Amino acid sequence: MQAYINIKSIVQTNRGKVAVRGENMAFLPTIDDGFLLIDNKKIVDFGSMSVFDFEKNHEIIDCTDRYILPTYCDSHTHVVFAATREAELLQRLKGASYLEIAAAGGGILNSALRLQTCDEQQLYDDAFYRIEKMIQTGTGAIEIKSGYGLSVDAELKMLRVIRKLKENLTLPIKATLLAAHAFPAIYKSNRAAYVALIIDQILPQCVDAGLVDYCDAFVENGFFTVAEADQIFEKASALNIKIKVHANQLSNSGGVKLGVGYNATSVDHLEHLDAEDYRLLSGSDTVATLLPSAAFFLNDSMPDAIELIKNNAIVALASDYNPGTSPSGNMNFVNSLAAIKMKMTTEMCINASTINGAFAMDVHHQLGSIDIGKNASFIITEKIQSIDAMPYSFGSPSIYKVII
Ligand SMILES: [Zn+2]
Repeated sequence: MQAYINIKSIVQTNRGKVAVRGENMAFLPTIDDGFLLIDNKKIVDFGSMSVFDFEKNHEIIDCTDRYILPTYCDSHTHVVFAATREAELLQRLKGASYLEIAAAGGGILNSALRLQTCDEQQLYDDAFYRIEKMIQTGTGAIEIKSGYGLSVDAELKMLRVIRKLKENLTLPIKATLLAAHAFPAIYKSNRAAYVALIIDQILPQCVDAGLVDYCDAFVENGFFTVAEADQIFEKASALNIKIKVHANQLSNSGGVKLGVGYNATSVDHLEHLDAEDYRLLSGSDTVATLLPSAAFFLNDSMPDAIELIKNNAIVALASDYNPGTSPSGNMNFVNSLAAIKMKMTTEMCINASTINGAFAMDVHHQLGSIDIGKNASFIITEKIQSIDAMPYSFGSPSIYKVII
């Protein structure tokens, strides 16, 4: 049994298995001067040092002046991809918009072209390397989307890579089918045929192969309409697959209303919301997942996190790690952006990136807080003055060690 002792403060304790919303977002339960006991990779006890039993024969790890908090649950990534897209950054610097680059065959279609010809082992090796780096920056669970395949074979290939990552990495991974990410060039003038391909072939074959935890669609101008996504989600629901939605990123696309209507696990992005969207999210268990590093990289407006919190939505933060709009899986930077650009307090950031992130990928039974019975998956900080050092020290995380 390992005993982490003299912990300056244990952060995010006793949250259990429920998401945090409304006024509770401003609060982080903590135990100062604490100990944490780990046995067989599980949390078996924690509490104040005043009741720690030194008589028992533990392996002692001293954490004087260090904080312990649960690892981040990154509930929205596209970390399996074939090539980076730096050239598109240069195009944007010269004035092209993301939509213009996408319309000219760049963007998602560029990634799809490269993925279809990329060796499966290479895809796996590259993603494995990226995830190892994410773990070093405190991430303890990851959701990964397909969506650079856009054909039966290539979507299956991406999902097989995700399954192999699940098998070989110690952190929980969830797989999302995102065949509705963009229309392949050959279907540009016959959109219905691609929607039919998803419904009749891609979705059932991937589900049959046991490769799918969620079904997602990019509901946006130039991508999938509400009506097209609705058909896909209806099929997914019939196959007992839960829904996630890329919603309201570049415009008020109607994705939030569609997602909440399907009782989606999460609706993600949310840069453009109206009063009705806030009202729907206030009364729903669908998580409002914000991806500020994508808005940062596209120089787009940030979602209004504080308005969502005021409206009692369940707010989560995720990295959206992908080669086109968020080439980083560093959740510390996501928290820094959330603080600086969206005025979220440290408490709100940590709630959003731990327990609510866990809720947005259904790993809240194992992760997201320091609770007895949950996985020993936590961050030990450097020797810091206060937990506010976490969003404060952007670019250089105040992390000493990550235990998975
Ligand atoms: Zn995304």
